[in-house]
Amino acid sequence: MVMLHQLPRLHSSIFLTKTPFLYTHFNLLPKPKLPTKTTSTLFSALNSTLSTTSEPIPIPTHNLDIPEETHVPISIEKLFVPPDTDVSSDTPASLSTRILKGSNIVLSKYARDAQVSQADFVKSSVDTQACPSDGLPEFALVGRSNVGKSSLLNSIVRRKKLALTSKKPGKTQCINHFRINDSWYLVDLPGYGYAAAPHELRIDWEKFTKDYFLNRSTLVSVFLLIDASIPAKKIDLEYASWLGENQVPMTLVFTKCDKRKKKKNGGKRPEENVNDFQELIRGFFQTAPPWIMTSSVTNQGRDEILLHMAQLRNYWLKH
Ligand code: GDP
Repeated sequence: MVMLHQLPRLHSSIFLTKTPFLYTHFNLLPKPKLPTKTTSTLFSALNSTLSTTSEPIPIPTHNLDIPEETHVPISIEKLFVPPDTDVSSDTPASLSTRILKGSNIVLSKYARDAQVSQADFVKSSVDTQACPSDGLPEFALVGRSNVGKSSLLNSIVRRKKLALTSKKPGKTQCINHFRINDSWYLVDLPGYGYAAAPHELRIDWEKFTKDYFLNRSTLVSVFLLIDASIPAKKIDLEYASWLGENQVPMTLVFTKCDKRKKKKNGGKRPEENVNDFQELIRGFFQTAPPWIMTSSVTNQGRDEILLHMAQLRNYWLKH
């Protein structure tokens, strides 16, 4: 295990083992390999695409203003390398500048048009068939009640109160679509694990969310929210392993990473809980899923999530 900002010199053969993972994670058939790009052409591609956005946002990399204690130890084979991204010619130093801060996610040339300029609630759907049919790509946010989903959604779209519809778990059992920039959707699913919800409603929830995950063709990735201020919960582990076993593309979003009081949080810091969680779900994934640390209090991870969504979305649109 090494710190992100101190990646050791590694043989490039380590990176070359990444290719099968890209297809596995995105659940796609293998495609012909693209010609290998050099680091410099990759970077110029990334720079030129970023500079063409209407509102360019800086690439938040791990080595900027993040406090030392929030660096997460990570080994290189646990990085998420997006599809159509070649890191075989990167040095550890150049690769480390492309990892999103507080995550295991490598930036690709598809990371552009990330800013949110418009967010509109579109509809609440009772099942997958009733969801919007305009074919725009979407990301679904899901997590245990009280994990901080509404706060994160509002932080992402920079609004105080956008995510009201699914606020009462056990009552509003709907798939809620928010259209962003008229070009993609954020989808808010009701929280799970709500103790007060009647048994029948919980069964219903299971049925419709699982159907949505398995059959929604425009779903680019599920964003599974996990509270990083407490040790892993059984229900979260079950949820993550179900997504892994069913090969539903998933990003783990760790919330409440600002809560650093060890005593209050069961003796562990957020980054320790983040590591523990990944260890516990490792067996259910062929390769490490992307993960990212966030806080709606400090807005940690907000721009990073948007860049990650942008690169997944732009890749999806091209393929
Ligand atoms: P939801 O039920 O998943 O939509 O969760 P909410 O967004 O309503 O948040 C549940 C509780 O956690 C509220 O008291 C929030 O103020 C608190 N909370 C949410 N996000 C954060 C965070 O990033 N840091 C801290 N410290 N508290 C948070």
